[in-house]
Parts: sequence; C-alpha cells; structure tokens
Amino acid sequence: MEKETEQLLDLKGEENLSLLEIDTTIEPLVKITMLPSGFKGYPKGTTISYKPITIEELESLNSTDPDLDRNFALILKSIRCNTMKPEDLYYWDVIYIGVQRLLTALGGTTGEFPALCPKCGKVVYKKASYTELDFKQLEVPALPMKMEVAGRQLEFGLPSVKQFLQLSPEAGEVGFYATLIKNMEPEEALKFVKNLTGIDIKKLRFVDKQLDYGIRPFTVKCKCGAQVQVEVTPFGVVFPEDEFRDDIEFEVQYG
Ligand SMILES: [Zn+2]
Repeated sequence: MEKETEQLLDLKGEENLSLLEIDTTIEPLVKITMLPSGFKGYPKGTTISYKPITIEELESLNSTDPDLDRNFALILKSIRCNTMKPEDLYYWDVIYIGVQRLLTALGGTTGEFPALCPKCGKVVYKKASYTELDFKQLEVPALPMKMEVAGRQLEFGLPSVKQFLQLSPEAGEVGFYATLIKNMEPEEALKFVKNLTGIDIKKLRFVDKQLDYGIRPFTVKCKCGAQVQVEVTPFGVVFPEDEFRDDIEFEVQYG
C-alpha cells in the first residue's frame, strides 16, 4: 500500500495544469475502487487515486461561474493515475470521482444538486446522498468493441474528458459518435461518421447503446409544477447545513 502511494506521487512531475496548487505530499490519497466504466478499456494494472478537496477548491467549484474547462481542470489536477493522464480518463468516471470528492469533502455524504427549471427559470435542488446516485454501470464485457462499419474495421470505446471538452456543441450526435471511434484520428472519425448511410448508421447507434453508462439524472418537481431533470455533476452543489452540526458540536470548548 505504501509502495503504491509513493509510485503515485512520482507522477507529480507530469502535471501540466497550473490552476490551484494541489500539494500531493499531503496524505491521504483516496484510492478509487469502483467506477461507472468498471475500469474497462484502461491499461491493465491501472490504479486511480485522488487528493481530498481543499476549502479553496470547494469555493471555486461552487462559484456560479460555469466555466467547465476550469472546473474539470481542478478535478483532473487532484487525480493520480499510474498508467495514463487524468484527462484521458472517461468522462463519467471523472464526474464520479468529482462527485465523490465533493460529497465526502466535509466529512458528510449528502449534497443538493442544482438545475434550472425550463418553465419558470428558478433553480431547483435535489438533495441526495452519495449512495442514492443512480449509476448505470458499463455492461459490455470488455473494451474496445470491434465491428466493421462501411468497410472499415473499427474499434469503439468511451469518450475521455478531453474529448468531451473538445467537442463543440454544434457537432451534435455526429460529433459524439465520432468520439466513440478509437482507431481513427478525431477529424478523420468525424468525416467518416458524417458520410455514413443506412445500416452503418444503425450499427453506430447500436454501439452507442451498448456503451451507455454514467450517472442518471434525477427528476424533481418544481414549485411551478414542471418536471425538472437534475444532472449529477460536482459543480454548483450546495451542502445542507444540518449535516455536520451534530459531529462537531461535542468537539468544541468555550472560554
Ligand atoms: Zn419551475
């Protein structure tokens, strides 16, 4: 166990993100044992750990500024992986790590996840504990998935955080499908997908369905009556105030 920690700390030099200084010499690193992807498609022997959240980071993640690049960079900076760069980890795995870090940040397990009501424009919250998250585990036996599409032998896998952040919103479904192809360069994959017809479109939809995984959104009812989908992310989460009071009350001395 000790040896493993040292090995993880050696990766410090590979960091290329320079937002907040995360001091990797401070123990403990928390080892991840479960991920939505089930570690499928990662190199054999991959271990992933993270540095617990600091109060500085907490403030940054919960700011109302929805700067996704910055927020993801903060989470990626806290992750230690022995086989690959954190930005190459799968999107939902990183979301999961981010949520776990956040909900356990203050010694609790519960957070309130925000969403904007599309009908009245108010922010609604879904209070949920870490164990209530609705996981969809990746069900395929192993990755990559291999299939011939339009005469090409393709390998499919899950999009990384990096691919997610590079995906332009205009790219739509076609752009997303292109991120699933692992044995083509991004531009080539996009061009390839754009030109698919008939049965080959069906094949790609099948692959997409097989690769379904992640954390399901919650549905809550807004005061205005609308049903609102609340996406689970580590961003903008509010902590219920009463969660920690009982534990700490007995540790305080006055005067
Ligand atoms: Zn509403």
